[in-house]
Amino acid sequence: MILDVPKRGLVLADVRSVEGIDELDKQHLATMVLPERIRRQKADRFGLVLPAWRHNEDPPVEILVLVVGEPYRREAVIADVLRDGPRPRLGPWSPPEWAEGLFVDPLCRALLAKPNRARRRTRSTRRPAQPARKQDRVGNRERKLERRAVLVSCPDCGAAIGQPHRGGCDVERCSVCFGQRLTCGCEGHDPIAAAWRGEWPGAAECRALGWWAVRTEKGWRPCSPTTPDAREDINRLTFFLQTGYDCLYDELDEDARDD
Ligand SMILES: [Zn+2]
Ligand SMILES: [Zn+2]
Repeated sequence: MILDVPKRGLVLADVRSVEGIDELDKQHLATMVLPERIRRQKADRFGLVLPAWRHNEDPPVEILVLVVGEPYRREAVIADVLRDGPRPRLGPWSPPEWAEGLFVDPLCRALLAKPNRARRRTRSTRRPAQPARKQDRVGNRERKLERRAVLVSCPDCGAAIGQPHRGGCDVERCSVCFGQRLTCGCEGHDPIAAAWRGEWPGAAECRALGWWAVRTEKGWRPCSPTTPDAREDINRLTFFLQTGYDCLYDELDEDARDD
């Protein structure tokens, strides 16, 4: 894996053989180890070089896959490996294709799971900060646990409650992968299930789980519901739904100790 790190340029972040490792180790590598590298390095982009086989042909064809991931773009190009001479060579590259899968999705999410400018900008468009009144700041757990004021339409695309989001909306979540619908290409997404519900998707689940976050100088960090300016921690929920691990903050907090 190659990372594009701000002020450092391209960094070779990981070289390893995945041959012979079992599914669980593969999953650990794709959902934990490599995303951690991306978050720790605060990378803007990643590139993967993956030797692979195309199994839908008989005999299977040896191929080389290159994947490039950015927060809102992921592409793969593929070339056949030709072993007809003294040295292996590559056939022509395929046109770029949308990339997804175990070694793409968690890594793309890791690009977003860091306190960078892009994330702060998305946040502020998602939910404009409410002016914090004194009485709100006094820990009032009951109030926080109630549903927030209902927004009658999606702040991005204007869909009414119960209506599917319109194309290109950056609020809509995917009903298959739980990610931002705009950035995934899952088949079988159900726009009705993902319809606007009057508040940010996942907020109600976060309240039920007691998952809150507050913006600190290190970025968003978990906190109690009574912390002033606490918000439902939708990043933590998304990370958990997508990876099965509730550990969005593990590496970030290791980072903080290193600083
Ligand atoms: Zn929308
Ligand atoms: Zn999806």
